Amino acid sequence: MSTEKHSKETVLAHGLGHMDEQHLGVIPGIFPSTTYERSADNSYPNGKIYTRDHNPNYEQPEQVLAALEKGEEAMLFSSGMSASISVFMSLKPGDHAIIPKVIYWSFRNWLLTFAKDWGIETTFVENGNIDAVKAAVRPGKTKLLWLETPANPTWEIEDISAWANIAKEADAVLAVDNTIATPLLCNPLELGADIVMHSATKYLNGHSDVLAGALVCKTKNAQWDKIRSIRASGGAVLGPFEAWLLMRGMRTLSVRVNQASSNALSFARAFEQHPLVEEVLYPGLESFKGHELAKKQMQGGFGGMLSIRIKGGEQAAIDVAANLQLIKRATSLGGVESLVEHRASVEGEGTPCPDDLLRISIGIESADDLIADFSQALTHINK
Ligand SMILES: *Cc1c(COP(=O)(O)O)cnc(C)c1O
Repeated sequence: MSTEKHSKETVLAHGLGHMDEQHLGVIPGIFPSTTYERSADNSYPNGKIYTRDHNPNYEQPEQVLAALEKGEEAMLFSSGMSASISVFMSLKPGDHAIIPKVIYWSFRNWLLTFAKDWGIETTFVENGNIDAVKAAVRPGKTKLLWLETPANPTWEIEDISAWANIAKEADAVLAVDNTIATPLLCNPLELGADIVMHSATKYLNGHSDVLAGALVCKTKNAQWDKIRSIRASGGAVLGPFEAWLLMRGMRTLSVRVNQASSNALSFARAFEQHPLVEEVLYPGLESFKGHELAKKQMQGGFGGMLSIRIKGGEQAAIDVAANLQLIKRATSLGGVESLVEHRASVEGEGTPCPDDLLRISIGIESADDLIADFSQALTHINK
């Protein structure tokens, strides 16, 4: 089974055809062993030595992800953050990276603190401004371009091909956080990126019950080997049960992403003209700044993430969240249940996020129920 021969939906549903070969079970087992026996001739016959590098339960989701992203190989990590950090750890002190201002908040914080302390130089550019990216290149020093699209929590769209051209010219690597689009709606490696990153905690697992991350490479090279050795030394890997649960979640990725995308579009349209709404930020809306680029770069939908800016400012936004009855007030995204978050409260001082913004992760419920819940919550402003 492969994505050359089958659609992504089929590859996902069948988990690339892996089975429990020993018992002919259609679902592979969970392999808790931390260590593997050597042969009498002192070799390791199936290449596995110790679970910090090797476990059968990592292999299936890694192979499925590599197939979906059209990359040569994938690596699972214990979180999206550990996957992202491993890419930056493969740089050397004095190396320079270019990143848009608005990206996943915790990672931006990590770059501003730990990466800086370790001598990695960074330039943050305005989102959606390709000239600023060009101008930020430091010849011979810029080694990594990192972007996220759509960018959390305002969903600006970056032009992956344009970034890739700049990276190529600078002899730098382009890495793309593809968490929000998922491998179903966008394949950055096909647009010229070298590495794709996922917080698998979100859509890939999809059930808000596993913390996981992943990287996928276009081609295995010296930097990829270095990242693999960073993972093997640090041990930022999943437990076998979590890797198995992740694979279980991934089997339904296509139905979940399709439903969330279609719900999100209905939800965005329902509130676009609402008198108590300042602005709906969703790449699927014709009124959205990055809509045309998103249409070109994403296939089959615009994802399940949107934000709503509430007229009346911060307190009004918090009041709306407080009065939701169905949509839960919680951080994170990409699960089957819808979640809302007043993002500025989480991101704190220095956030580029407007204080009237509610971020909503649209789940797979009925769109009508979600719209009804948000409509009734809006009526509570100033009461
Ligand atoms: C959640 C998230 C991350 C971090 O992933 P964890 O699995 O929570 O470590 C990175 N990027 C984006 C876009 C995310 O939503």
